[in-house]
Amino acid sequence: MHTIIAIDGPAASGKSSVARKLARTIGFSYVNSGSFYRTATWYMLVRGVDVQNAGAVATAVKAGQFRSGFENGESFFEVDGQRANITDDAVNRSVSAVARVPAVREVVNAHLHALAGVADSIVEGRDIGSAVFPETPYKFYIDASPEVRQQRRSAQGQADEVAARDKQDSSRATAPLTIPEGSTVVDSTHLSIDQVVDTIVSALEN
Ligand code: C5P
Repeated sequence: MHTIIAIDGPAASGKSSVARKLARTIGFSYVNSGSFYRTATWYMLVRGVDVQNAGAVATAVKAGQFRSGFENGESFFEVDGQRANITDDAVNRSVSAVARVPAVREVVNAHLHALAGVADSIVEGRDIGSAVFPETPYKFYIDASPEVRQQRRSAQGQADEVAARDKQDSSRATAPLTIPEGSTVVDSTHLSIDQVVDTIVSALEN
């Protein structure tokens, strides 16, 4: 396995922008695991699967042909040869329900582990340091106040109830959002992306 740097945190904490920039800065690949859950959710929605029905979601995810890889240093995830519209409002509303289903997490985790065999990576998500790569010594948890996180998402022009997603993501039975043991917590409420990246680079150097 290659070196993995885990970056976890709640919705709209800035972790995607930070993870992408950090990856470029230190020459690692970038894996956005949230986009994998979003692709699985899009797949459910286009098939008319009731996302509140965990059994139906589990059956449907097993029928999809999921494929992952790297393109220009970033992960991609596709299903049945298609790339999803992952920032769709309907996906924002349904993704936490789909992500709580263990069969979905198994599919995503298998792809995350396969990618970790290909390149040194920054892997960003909710359970990366706690459940997917608990053995990595490099774990960061990026937080920000709920108000700032909702503002950041709204500024991107997206209808996304971040507090509702966080509540569902933190309370689910399998791999809930949590601060991983041994992680460095960075509060980005008053920090720019570059300042958070600098903080992480300094922590990695020590
Ligand atoms: O990071 P992003 O906001 O795109 O993640 C979308 C959703 O995917 C989260 O709200 C969560 O339900 C799910 N997710 C997860 N585990 C991860 C990454 C994302 O459950 N490692």
